[in-house]
Order: sequence, then C-alpha cells, then structure tokens
Amino acid sequence: MSMQNPFINAMAQLDKVAKINNLDKEFVSKLRQPDREIIVSIPVRMDDGSLRIFEGYRVEYNNTLGPYKGGIRYHPNTEINEVKALSFWMTLKCAVIGIPMGGGKGGITVDPKLLSSTELESLSRGWVRKFSDILGPYKDVPAPDVNTTAEIMAWMADEYGKITSDKTGAVITGKPVGKGGSLGRDTATAQGGFYAFEALKKDLKLGEKCKIVVQGFGNAGANAALIWGKAGHTIIAVSDSKGGVFDPKGLDILKLLAFKEKTGSVSGFSGSKDITNEELLELDCDLLIPAALENTITPDNVDNIKAKVILELANGPITSSADEVLFKKGIPVVPDILANSGGVAVSYFEWVQNLKGEHWTEKEVFDKLRPMMELSASEILNKSKKLKTDLRMGAFILALDRIKAKM
Ligand code: GLU
Repeated sequence: MSMQNPFINAMAQLDKVAKINNLDKEFVSKLRQPDREIIVSIPVRMDDGSLRIFEGYRVEYNNTLGPYKGGIRYHPNTEINEVKALSFWMTLKCAVIGIPMGGGKGGITVDPKLLSSTELESLSRGWVRKFSDILGPYKDVPAPDVNTTAEIMAWMADEYGKITSDKTGAVITGKPVGKGGSLGRDTATAQGGFYAFEALKKDLKLGEKCKIVVQGFGNAGANAALIWGKAGHTIIAVSDSKGGVFDPKGLDILKLLAFKEKTGSVSGFSGSKDITNEELLELDCDLLIPAALENTITPDNVDNIKAKVILELANGPITSSADEVLFKKGIPVVPDILANSGGVAVSYFEWVQNLKGEHWTEKEVFDKLRPMMELSASEILNKSKKLKTDLRMGAFILALDRIKAKM
C-alpha cells in the first residue's frame, strides 16, 4: 500500500480548493504553514529502571478563530508530518462546525499497549511538562485522539494544574466525567457523524435500512457500530488493526465488544467470517465508515471500492487522488472535517462548562450538537451543489470563508 505523507495530502486538498474557489494567494500561503511546530524529547524512567527517551509533538496551526484545539495521538507511526496534517484539518474542522477555536494537534511516537500504567502516566505528564508554557485554556487546548483516553487527559490536566495553579481544568478536554469531563464526550464523534448522516441521507440516496461496514474499532468505530446498529441499520463487517469480521446477516456489536475486551481483537468472533482489512474496505455495502487512520483509501484500492457512500470518522483516510476517482465514480464522501467534528464540538462544550462552572446533562449536550451538525451539513451540501464539486470541497470552502472573514 502506498504510504503518503499526510501533510502532502492536506496541501493537495488546499491547492484544489484554491483553484475551485479562486482563493487569494496570500491567504493560501498563510495556510500552507503552521504558526509553530515543536518537537520535544520526553525522558521516562521505565519499570525496569532503564531510561527511555520518547519523541513528542505539538503543532499550533492557526488560531484565527480561537485557542488552538486538537487531540494528542499516541502511535508508533506518529511523526511530525502527520501531526501537522491533523492540526491543519483541526483548523478547518473547528471552522466547519462553527466553534470559536483554532487548530492544533499533538502526539508521541509510542505504542501505548507496550507500556505499563505507571510508564504511561509518567510519559503523559512528561508531555505536559514540556508544553506547559504554550498550553492554556485561552491559548491551546488539547484532547484525546487515537490511543489516548479520558484517564490520560486526567493525568495531563492534573499535571498542568500543578505547574500553573489553574483550577478550571479547561486546559484539556475529554477528561473523565467527575473530573471535569462533559457527559456525551466519549460518544460524541460517532454521534455527530450519525447526525450528519441523517441530515444528508436523502441527498445521498440512502434508504432507511443500510448495510454498514466500519473500519476501526476504537472510540469512533465501536461507538459508530453501536449507534448505527441501534438505529436499525445492519453492521455487516468491522475491523481493528489485527483484522476484520464479516457477517452478511449483521454482527451483534455488544457481544463483539465483549469478545474484543476478552481476546484483544475482533478476529475469530463466533458466527462470523474472518476477513482482512483490505477485503473489508472492498465489501459491497451502502455505507463504508473508515474510523481508523490516514491513507486507507488510496489509488491502490480505490477502483475496488463498492460502497455507495463513504463517511469519514477517521481524519484523512482518503488521499486526494483517490478522492478524484470516487467523485468520478459517483461515490459521495462525507468528509472528516464535518463527519467527525462532533468530537471537538463536545470538547468545546466541555471547555465552556469548565470555564462557567456548569454541568450539562447528556440531553442538553446532544440537543446542542444535533442542530450544529445539521446546519453545517446543509451549508456544505449547498456549497458543493453550487460549485458542482464534492462535499469535501464544499466543507473546505465553508471553513475557509469563515477563517478569511475573521482574518
Ligand atoms: N481528536 C479529535 C479530532 O480529531 C478531537 C479533538 C478535540 O476534541 O479537541 O477531532
């Protein structure tokens, strides 16, 4: 599979929108660079007494609309170009969903599954110590991303509080409920994606009961399988990093979650057929939901995609050249910066609650999220129809108009 530098892909998307929408050259050149990118080394005393040095990142891309906002990724393949791309997409994502936040992203090159809880805690606190000067409720507000949990956010918020005496906890979102986290934050990414799907369903010519394939079984993917399943759709296949399972009659997602909890993977789930991640992506279905990492649908496999519609819960799963092919084939893509923006929207709600000392019910959270998702979805649809382009370009245009207006 071709591994493309995600930042090159992000910039190809920017070049494309610049052409379609005839964007001002100076504005585009400003958007080709982050405000700053920082690489640090984080020493950690391991349980066996040895010292290991990890590489950590924070990229502050753009704060035209508000404090830099975006998650922290722990992954063995995470590196600065990935973090840069993700922070660029965060900038657009916050603009698309209409929250007063800019874009940032962080990460550490690490496989957290290989660390003990003590090692993970000292690594996470170490990341905050390195970046405490640039973080802050009104400066830069991190959150969870791939492989980072509410517990990790709690350690980070605590470390920041110790260094700065900040008591609001608003420096970081995605904290556990009870430690300043918002109700609904854990399911918000998938739930927001579902609201966008509902809003666009008719235009995408999808029926009431869809056959759904979900790639990735982390926070976004597993909750998506639960939410779409609960709404009466049939989840015919899911996968995690180790492989996938397929059952044309529909998988029991609650049982599958319990199975994965026990065995560490979805593979081998009884009553289903084991398939590879590659096979899963090429299944015949109504809706394919990539919910894992970047570069999932590329020129290598795009011709084999049989889904009627794709909804990106992951960030950047489709390369720019694969996008072109999908558009020509008439396979609409609900783009990441809309589809997964429910996560950062509820992060923003958490930030507001922390700063005001409020606690909203889950119903209040989702009653606020739903109309935001619906409004952005319809604005994007209108833009893309008007310019006869795809939904991603519609979303880019909406976001860039908002950033430009503020600049
Ligand atoms: N990591 C998530 C994303 O990619 C959430 C970011 C946030 O809540 O700040 O959108």
